[in-house]
Amino acid sequence: MADVTVVGAGPVGMLLAGDLARRGVDVEVLERRPAAGGGSRAIGVHAPVLAALEPSGVTERLLAHAVRVRRGEARSRGRTLGVVRFEALSARFPFVATLPQAATEAVLAADAPEPVRGAKVMTVLPRPDGVLVRAGVRGRVTERISRIADWPDWHPPAEMRQRQPYLPVKMTGGVYNPLGAKALYLGNSLYRIHGTDDARTIGRATSSGCFRMTNGHVTDLARRVGVGTTVVVVNRLNGRMARVGD
Ligand SMILES: Cc1cc2nc3c(=O)[nH]c(=O)nc-3n(C[C@H](O)[C@H](O)[C@H](O)COP(=O)(O)OP(=O)(O)OC[C@H]3O[C@@H](n4cnc5c(N)ncnc54)[C@H](O)[C@@H]3O)c2cc1C
Repeated sequence: MADVTVVGAGPVGMLLAGDLARRGVDVEVLERRPAAGGGSRAIGVHAPVLAALEPSGVTERLLAHAVRVRRGEARSRGRTLGVVRFEALSARFPFVATLPQAATEAVLAADAPEPVRGAKVMTVLPRPDGVLVRAGVRGRVTERISRIADWPDWHPPAEMRQRQPYLPVKMTGGVYNPLGAKALYLGNSLYRIHGTDDARTIGRATSSGCFRMTNGHVTDLARRVGVGTTVVVVNRLNGRMARVGD
């Protein structure tokens, strides 16, 4: 789990996440949209914004892609209705920097982590030791396997221990350990694909978001994959994948 969760991969979220990442803060971004928007809601970046973003280096990168619009004219049937002069607004940036929103977002996202897309944040609750963030995941989410461990120890997350205070800080690996014979760790998340001895708990909402398999199946899976393998989490299998899995 990251130290900071930014909700929303809009311009503000990505700028904040990039700034935190540049300062060495462990940050994640949760975004409900499954893909970046193609439209433009920020075609013009104005002088105050350019000035505010200058210390972070973002302005220089934006200007490398932008057309500098110094004045605009409104016309109707050949008649000039009005003129806007942006050059009068700022000595440092006497223009509006114009570029497609996708380009703006790419510049802002340069130092930010890749957002987790399809993750809609439902709850943000202050807690004595941090903030509880609950998100529902829609569509596909991908992670890479970051570690594979045999009979791993289990450290119940603080949030789980709060809900279930009888849980220990650490449970040593073994047959009674909920992670079973093998755990495949998914990125930096708290989620794992893991084994269990208790087949009755498979396919039910008994875990806190992990993926449970029998010890035999997870051991077989671990032989077929490796650290770096991409895992795609889906709500349901499409027809072709369901047939392969049958
Ligand atoms: C038609 C139009 C034209 C505009 N033109 C300009 C312009 O020319 N220049 C300019 O500077 N500004 C312009 N704006 C304003 C600019 O688009 C906004 O100021 C800017 O997008 C705000 O950025 P934001 O990151 O705060 O919010 P947003 O861009 O709205 O981003 C918020 C993100 O958070 C996500 N989100 C929301 N709730 C959740 C949740 N519960 N869980 C997970 N994700 C969530 C959303 O999906 C979204 O991606 C325009 C706006 C509109 C509507």
